[in-house]
Amino acid sequence: MSSAENRVFTVAIDGPAASGKGTIARALAERFGLAHLDTGLLYRAVAARVLEGADPVAAAEGLTEADLARPDLRAEAVGRKASEVAAIPAVREALLDFQRRFARREGGAVLDGRDIGTVICPEAEVKLFVTAEDEIRARRRHRELVARGEDVPFEEVLADLRARDARDAARATAPLRPAPDALLLDTSKLSIEAAVEAAARHVEAKIGQGRD
Ligand code: C5P
Repeated sequence: MSSAENRVFTVAIDGPAASGKGTIARALAERFGLAHLDTGLLYRAVAARVLEGADPVAAAEGLTEADLARPDLRAEAVGRKASEVAAIPAVREALLDFQRRFARREGGAVLDGRDIGTVICPEAEVKLFVTAEDEIRARRRHRELVARGEDVPFEEVLADLRARDARDAARATAPLRPAPDALLLDTSKLSIEAAVEAAARHVEAKIGQGRD
């Protein structure tokens, strides 16, 4: 894979909040020399503007590099609002082209989100659906928030995460669900290293199949 500088190769990683998909996406991007896009940041950036009073569709249509670089995008309140604005079809539509172009850029790309393998890039060469048990994901998210100085009770994080998953899975447009050809990777009992290794093996297997 290293020889083909002008390859177009997409790794699509979907899954619920705090499943480990972001960590896996970053590690695969580094290992295989691919560009990485955390698509949740797009929805978070729209949400941050909405929390300041902007119209969701106008915010999505006018998203800038500066919006994506805001330091407050990882806050719990922004994540909650993101899953609300993400249910608006016109918001998703406004963000579609940017994600599709990124997915098929020269040199290859890893994108992580909720609908990458199903809607953004159904032709992706590699698809992974990363999950973990609710309580385990909530514990990870809680640890992250505490490390960042956000003092949120565990029970609240768990309830929020379940509400967010339910909203993401139930929405009419681009609901959270595995693509039929995605590898399901449950990280509940895996270390980060083991999860990354399992994902990397899958990428390597797919690259091998693509070679003739
Ligand atoms: O992954 P992250 O928690 O940053 O995503 C925030 C929210 O953005 C998700 O709960 C989901 O509603 C939305 N999202 C989406 N489609 C994506 C990525 C994120 O709907 N591809």
